[in-house]
Amino acid sequence: MATVIELPVDTYKGPVDPDWCPGCGDFGVLKSVQEAAGKLGVKPENLMVVSGIGCSSNLPGFIHAYGVHSLHGRSVPVATGAHLANTDMKTVITGGDGDGYGIGLGHLIHAMRRNLDVTYVVMDNQIYGLTTGQASPTTTKGHKTKSTPAGNIESPLNPLALAITAGATYVARGFSGEQKHLADTIAGGIAHKGFALIDVFSPCVTYNKINTYPWFKERVYKLEDEGWDPSADYYKSLEKSFEWGDKIPLGVIYKHEMDTYEDLEPALKNGALVKQPLEIDKKVFNSFIEELI
Ligand code: SF4
Repeated sequence: MATVIELPVDTYKGPVDPDWCPGCGDFGVLKSVQEAAGKLGVKPENLMVVSGIGCSSNLPGFIHAYGVHSLHGRSVPVATGAHLANTDMKTVITGGDGDGYGIGLGHLIHAMRRNLDVTYVVMDNQIYGLTTGQASPTTTKGHKTKSTPAGNIESPLNPLALAITAGATYVARGFSGEQKHLADTIAGGIAHKGFALIDVFSPCVTYNKINTYPWFKERVYKLEDEGWDPSADYYKSLEKSFEWGDKIPLGVIYKHEMDTYEDLEPALKNGALVKQPLEIDKKVFNSFIEELI
């Protein structure tokens, strides 16, 4: 096994500082993604961060790595294409609950069932923050928001149960108020071979006055403190993913080793596409590119 040379977190300091509201949970997530990459010794030139639209989706602009700030809900297909072009890169998708579980949900389900070897970190603040506080797919029932003044009448989505049943092979939850634990959880997802979905409680201090840091701190506990084995039993993991209320678990809920999409795709048998011969005339290739730009 290759020796890992850890890199300092400053390696990933982006060209501009985040403009999130002071206290936003996304600060802790950014630091955790940077620390996770550093722990694994992933150099910035080997790291690609792809996002959609939303407060949290601004993250690629705040990290020193390759990045794409794509369209609302489209981070997963953009990341899929970029990743399949160069499977030697570590691909991390970042974004919010509205972007990933609402607008982009169809893409997410199919990426999980393919067991694509990417890591998706969802900054789940249970609200649409950028558009100033509307109900999102994970807003709890009864929650009064700008778009639900009489209280939310819809039941929230359970992203962990969805991920386990859709085919993701590393399913975890983190909390930006437990930043070091979150960094370890994200590092585990990046190191895992297969689709990693990490749902992160990342409080929106401006528009969600219910799911706050103190609200989570009273409830969360770490699965590893209870000796939880995420690989032991699929159905127990699924059951655990429904635990919510006075006690909410953090950590890796489900983990499974199996072939990835990349393992099975014949076009990748000889390695990353970007490193394979073009096998068409350069002029023809250039004419395709010209058509696209
Ligand atoms: Fe963070 Fe909410 Fe402010 Fe957006 S509006 S930056 S999610 S605190």
